[in-house]
Amino acid sequence: MAVEAATLSQGLRASFRTGRTRPAEWRAAQLKSLVRMIEEKEDDISNALNADLAKPRMESYLHEISLAKGACIFALKGLKNWMKPDKVPAAITTFPSTATIVPEPLGVVLIISAWNYPFLLSIEPVIGAIAAGNAVVLKPSEIAPATSSLFAKLLPEYVDGSCIKVVEGGINETTSLLEQKWDKIFYTGNGYVGRIVMAAAAKHLTPVALELGGKCPVIVDSNVDLHVAVKRIAVGKWGCNNGQACIAPDYIITTKAFVTELVDSLKRVLVRFYGEDPLQSEDLSRIVNANHFNRVTKLIEDKKVADKIVLGGQIDEKQLKIAPTVLVDVPLDTQLMIGEIFGPLLPIVTVEKIEESIDYINAGTKPLAAYLFTKNKKLQEDFIANVSAGGMLVNDVALHLTNPHLPFGGVGDSGIGSYHGKFSFDCFSHKKAVLVRGFGGEANARYPPYTVEKQKI
Ligand code: NAD
Repeated sequence: MAVEAATLSQGLRASFRTGRTRPAEWRAAQLKSLVRMIEEKEDDISNALNADLAKPRMESYLHEISLAKGACIFALKGLKNWMKPDKVPAAITTFPSTATIVPEPLGVVLIISAWNYPFLLSIEPVIGAIAAGNAVVLKPSEIAPATSSLFAKLLPEYVDGSCIKVVEGGINETTSLLEQKWDKIFYTGNGYVGRIVMAAAAKHLTPVALELGGKCPVIVDSNVDLHVAVKRIAVGKWGCNNGQACIAPDYIITTKAFVTELVDSLKRVLVRFYGEDPLQSEDLSRIVNANHFNRVTKLIEDKKVADKIVLGGQIDEKQLKIAPTVLVDVPLDTQLMIGEIFGPLLPIVTVEKIEESIDYINAGTKPLAAYLFTKNKKLQEDFIANVSAGGMLVNDVALHLTNPHLPFGGVGDSGIGSYHGKFSFDCFSHKKAVLVRGFGGEANARYPPYTVEKQKI
């Protein structure tokens, strides 16, 4: 495989060097084909997502297919403008001159994707890489095999195979790919592998974008429209791949005085969404595979955790399903409260005063997303000013990712770099500084000999 990976990267580099990927026409043609692919193969994509995750059709459409198509159309609309050199003021030191920032493609880029949104998380960075004029290798996640093989089948049918390739496989194949020299590596997944990717990239001085995860907090103040808040939290947690989403709420913080009301509301909403027996609901994704099922169920097998379940807790090993589960005041030294949950368990931490929640969040690693529900403007301002997170959202969850004018990415342990909309184009471009002078404007003081007269200036 190492030899194949080397041949692949050399072949793509040769194609890139022909200049084929640079014209706006090539980029637009690929993006138009991708829109066509998404339209024509919507059923196949939906079926693959269902095979990989039992993802409900509506969820696949709302959270993957429509967003992917939207990202493609947004790039198509923006492309010509994004590609234009950006004229900046000329400095007096270079008079007369013109100064521009010229975006240029980085070259040949590697995109390594994750299993939880296996279509969107693969195609969205590919869109950015193509828009920026790069040659691309996509390595989808082997944990979502139906979507991975769909990419391997579909992309060669729709896009220029001399410059855009799919490599399927797991750790071995990815390791071989990582041994090659790339001009950027874009990785989505967990921080442990993120470190492996960054170490491999360092050997070639390759820049990386790392889209990682973390524990995304949700502060719920008592000054809210509770029913609306709880519906939004519930759909952002269990309606997003049953909690297997990087920006799904990981835990709630609320006050001791408000927690009972909050749990009662969660109970009502969960019954409304998923019925009395959520394990039978077709609107809940399953856990992706037995390994992850065992990882998540182990978190609640710990007696210190199990004792704190107030809602849910049912599991079905055969179907790999876990019911929406809410827990209150789980000891903070348990794995549930330390690591990213990435599943349908939602612990609630209680504090005396809601203001304490900001310090609680800041005591941990920086999350990918942080959420607050309150009508209190002062609390909103304190939250925005004092909590560090990749992104944040007040009075809703997860939806910030649907706005292509906002960068999407982490900070600290939740990642490096961002994408979406024009940020994707920037992520895969080099901003080249270009200064053009004429032959006038000679300043003699610049040239030796540095005589006493010259030094008087
Ligand atoms: P995963 O298991 O699909 O792994 C991601 C990729 O890494 C895969 O393509 C896999 O083949 C590759 N990989 C795995 N082990 C490797 C190794 N040892 N060496 C080289 N490559 C290797 O996905 P995952 O990591 O389980 O994904 C879940 C994590 O990703 C969570 O932490 C989640 O928060 C995060 N995530 C982040 C985002 C985001 O946009 N920031 C999106 C989705 C998931």
